[in-house]
Amino acid sequence: MTLSELHKFIFEGLPVRGMLVRLTDAWQDILARRAANSETGAYPAPVRQLLGEMAAAGVLMQGNIKFNGALVLQIFGDGPVKLGVVEVQPDFSLRATCTQVGDVADDASLSQMVNVNNQGRCAITLDPQDRLPGQQPYQGVVPLFGDQGEKLENISEVLEHYMLQSEQLDTVLVLAADDKVAAGLLIQRLPIEGEGNLAGKADSVEREAVLGQSEDFSRIAILTKSLKREELLTLDAETILHRLYWEEPLARFEPYIGETGPRFACRCSRERVGNMIRSLGTEEVESIIAERGQVDVGCDFCGAEYQFDPVDAAGLFTGLVPDPSGGSVH
Ligand SMILES: [Zn+2]
Repeated sequence: MTLSELHKFIFEGLPVRGMLVRLTDAWQDILARRAANSETGAYPAPVRQLLGEMAAAGVLMQGNIKFNGALVLQIFGDGPVKLGVVEVQPDFSLRATCTQVGDVADDASLSQMVNVNNQGRCAITLDPQDRLPGQQPYQGVVPLFGDQGEKLENISEVLEHYMLQSEQLDTVLVLAADDKVAAGLLIQRLPIEGEGNLAGKADSVEREAVLGQSEDFSRIAILTKSLKREELLTLDAETILHRLYWEEPLARFEPYIGETGPRFACRCSRERVGNMIRSLGTEEVESIIAERGQVDVGCDFCGAEYQFDPVDAAGLFTGLVPDPSGGSVH
């Protein structure tokens, strides 16, 4: 199995930067964990494509910011797909899951899955690693509509809108995912000094220089958009970058792969699950125990199962933990 990889590059002398991600082992790990879940089974193809494209986009967006914390990309759907979540840490470890509440047709479009009644939306959250007490994570929310009020059918378009709004940067994003690979290519136009007051520039040489730089972006954007979904899924990074940009002054950075590259990792723990159960309140937890004898919680991201028997559950509320010999601590 090939290792997932992230490549960063710039175009020397031009105000354009880019990134290419290919999630292979990390993506197959996420899919295999879902398929092994006897309650849900594997994702239908359109859901797999949506979540894979979100996973690739999440890594690109995390790679694009200087931020010490998790980037969480979420879709809140109003159709058969209720929730899609991708969480990417600064070291590119990631996890992803989708919650499906109804049937998804084999040929379902994005809007048929998550924007049936025009209520679907996409949220991008930056959650700082060392959050101060009372500090809220930053969150941006974008609707799943284009400028003309049309329903967007590609998550890439939704995110291009977000990046234009939040960072004021022109972005081109190409995404694709199947059952082996989740991949994405992003290019972004860097801000040019003095561009904001272009209209006030009397100096035509200066003005043309700025316009010329934006032509460079337009040209590279057209090359980027020419990449076909099939090519993004099947070609390796070297081939894609060469095929698209062989006439451009491409300068590449050391790729992130293996230890430093994107990989699956879940952050669930018994302690976190315990906190979640505690937040339900004594009454709710007691009624679950009365009904089922214990509290079972499965992690949607990795499939881990956590069991809290009546003694464990009571300990959550009293702060007493059962001692390992079996009796509870008094
Ligand atoms: Zn987990």
